[in-house]
Amino acid sequence: MTETDEGFQPGLMMDSPLTITAILRRAAQFFPEKEIVSRLNDGSIHRYTYRDLYPRVVRLMNVLRDLGVRPGDRVATFAWNSFRHLELYFAVPCLGAILHTVNIRLFPEQLAYILNHAGDRLMFADKSLAGLLAPLQAELKSIDSYVLMDDRGDTSAALPTRVWDYEELLASATETGLFPGFPETTAASLCYTSGTTGEPKGVLYSHRSVYLHAMGCCMADSFAIREREVVLPVVPMFHANAWGLPFACAMTGANQVLTGSHLLGKPLADLIEQERVTWAAGVPTVWNLLYQHLKLHSHDLSHLKVIVVGGAAAPRFLIENYARDFGITMLHAWGMTETSPVGSVCRLKAEMESRPEQRRLEVQVKQGIPVANVEMRLLGEEGEELPWNGKQAGELAVRGPWVSRSYYNNSEPNAAFTEDGWFRTGDIATIDASGYMEITDRKKDVIKSRGEWISSVEMENATMMHPTVLEAAVVGRPDDLRGESPVVFVVLRQPEQAFRKQDVLDVLKLRFARWQLPRMADIHFVASLPKTGVGKLDKKALRRKLTE
Ligand code: AMP
Repeated sequence: MTETDEGFQPGLMMDSPLTITAILRRAAQFFPEKEIVSRLNDGSIHRYTYRDLYPRVVRLMNVLRDLGVRPGDRVATFAWNSFRHLELYFAVPCLGAILHTVNIRLFPEQLAYILNHAGDRLMFADKSLAGLLAPLQAELKSIDSYVLMDDRGDTSAALPTRVWDYEELLASATETGLFPGFPETTAASLCYTSGTTGEPKGVLYSHRSVYLHAMGCCMADSFAIREREVVLPVVPMFHANAWGLPFACAMTGANQVLTGSHLLGKPLADLIEQERVTWAAGVPTVWNLLYQHLKLHSHDLSHLKVIVVGGAAAPRFLIENYARDFGITMLHAWGMTETSPVGSVCRLKAEMESRPEQRRLEVQVKQGIPVANVEMRLLGEEGEELPWNGKQAGELAVRGPWVSRSYYNNSEPNAAFTEDGWFRTGDIATIDASGYMEITDRKKDVIKSRGEWISSVEMENATMMHPTVLEAAVVGRPDDLRGESPVVFVVLRQPEQAFRKQDVLDVLKLRFARWQLPRMADIHFVASLPKTGVGKLDKKALRRKLTE
């Protein structure tokens, strides 16, 4: 008997299944008046409530049945954030089928690979995006037909053939129907991660994992989503379940504001102001650009209290400036597609609140402590466990009920999933004595110079500490003498500013030893940095640039 088995008696408590159906019912039953607001791509606003959502989900389930979707079938979406995408978030899994959210920013070859690998039966696409699928249609062997959703965007591109109109289908469907029963471990949704090597890999979430993850997000010391919040996910619904926010909102009855196509700067500020958003989440670039906008233009964002920032490291100045200039708390969070995605959230413990500002910031820039149910470990080069002293860096490994155990339909052995039941994240981190984890790099991004590690993330953050710098990226390039040498790309807030390479070096000298510094020729001023499909720095593209 293991430690966990001891004292276990089956059947003591009710095993009510933890399903997305239960989340949907709760939203409709207890929070019928709460709103789902969608900004369509022509700037107009669509507004309805959980009371309206529910019968449309039932109709959609009937549509899916009529189109031949059976439990276990994969149904793809190719869409921005909107109420229709939300309806699919519920209808597909509630039917026992699998919602496959496809990243609209992938290259055509990746799209074809993913859609064929998933074997999707049916594709729901925003009309303005469907043009991207038309040239691929002949290659997409498993998709029978396409359902188009009018997102009021540009529809000039040629559309796929064999199409249905979403609203016409819904209008012709009946509003009553059965919710099938199934075990909580039934697959609910699927998301592919582009990964670092090889083909994209699918992460298959279960009803149980989605449910528990949503509960994890709602906990007061994690995201604290609750009924009174107006939540704006600036994270796409085609990436990692929009951080689980659609489910967490429905579970608690929070209002949700859906952005349509990706919003930045002014339109984002306008939406936050108009809808009195209280809680928002997104990657650092989004908040950095919003901050630049807010410094120059006046908006009433007094309702916005919390911004969750994750997906990439949140720079210190951003956390500091939002708090100082706008009284907004930035919560730093870490996660991956494989972790549903939320793994850790950085909230100060009560005893830290009274520390001086700079010492509080030292904690806030970390990625935080694991959300309840997630466990963490640091692994050394030989797979040995490293101590939590805030100094020794190792590979972060995690486990928990919403952490993936394998990749979908992939029988290749994968070293990321260890025999003793942990997932090796590929992130390099430290954990301090209070349990706060800090990502120091991605395993593949660490720069090894003269046999020692230089954290690319630390160097980026140090560069961005200077007020004239808008963004910075650091990658390693092979160097005969040093093994690898850092290359720094800098975007200035105003291109005409007099900021020279020597100034960058002077900033870095404050935090880095001489041997770690980039050579003068390895500092580049650029107009912008390449980003991945989900708005993160695309370091692969930067490395390619170096070899061109
Ligand atoms: P994805 O699966 O595309 O969401 O990417 C997950 C990866 O993003 C993680 O393995 C990290 O490398 C990175 N990441 C996510 N959140 C953070 C964060 N708060 N700080 C630094 N890196 C992050």
